[in-house]
Amino acid sequence: MELNVQGQVAIVTGASRGIGASIADALAAAGAKVAGTATTGQGAEAIAQRLASLSDVCMGAVLDVNDPEGAGALVEAVGAKLGAPTILVNNAGITRDQILMRMKEDDWDAVIETNLRSVFRLSKACLRGMMKARTGRIVNIASFFVRVGAETYGAYCASKGGLHALTKVWAAELTPFNITVNSIFPGWVHTQNAEKFIDRIADLHGIDKDDAIRKILSLVPQRRLMEPAEIAQAVLYLCSELAGGMSGTDM
Ligand code: NAP
Repeated sequence: MELNVQGQVAIVTGASRGIGASIADALAAAGAKVAGTATTGQGAEAIAQRLASLSDVCMGAVLDVNDPEGAGALVEAVGAKLGAPTILVNNAGITRDQILMRMKEDDWDAVIETNLRSVFRLSKACLRGMMKARTGRIVNIASFFVRVGAETYGAYCASKGGLHALTKVWAAELTPFNITVNSIFPGWVHTQNAEKFIDRIADLHGIDKDDAIRKILSLVPQRRLMEPAEIAQAVLYLCSELAGGMSGTDM
């Protein structure tokens, strides 16, 4: 068996840059019909152009995961153009880092809504098609921060810890329909997001950028930054035929 996703229809949220862009590209290169999302029309157009160089049956779409109507509208648009989604990668995510004492309620809500509630909405919107097809793959992008309890990342860790819990529950619920649900807990990955985090840690501790990088890497077992493509290959595996027996896992 190979890492076969040929003919599957995949939605990847937050595919404009970073990890999501790499995941969308890897799935498209492996033969899936991919819909990658961005929050702006310009971003969606750039995704469509990027994916067109890998496959002629892909699309870019606008999605704000906090729009209550957004998930249903996206699944309908993808269904009309590519077919009902059989793969969903819940990748879009934000951070609003702050120590508990200074954390504002609006920031807390923004993180929980964007990183956790949106996953409930979008996963539910994709389920009817997956259940009908008796096949499906849901991959949630969580974070290793949940495991190390990174300071200032309370809301973020709560949201990603929520994904860990949902992965277990939904895997149990959806096994009878041949739908797998798994999570990835990336270490520190080289993206714009990571650059902002370095600056934040440097600022918080009054240290320079190199020391901030050393401090952060000390939390990561492999003591190095990962590249988005490394995460994308793990997602490709979980979405493939080969991973049909893997569900409820954290990678
Ligand atoms: P990134 O470079 O900041 O990209 C974030 C993506 O999410 C963008 O495509 C952005 O779209 C999209 N997004 C943001 N808010 C959204 C909203 N309201 N609705 C829909 N899409 C939205 O992030 P990244 O570093 O690649 O991280 C991707 C995922 O991996 C996140 O869930 C993150 O928590 C997780 N992660 C990252 C790391 C790391 O070290 N980088 C480590 C562990 C886990 P626009 O471009 O249109 O704004």
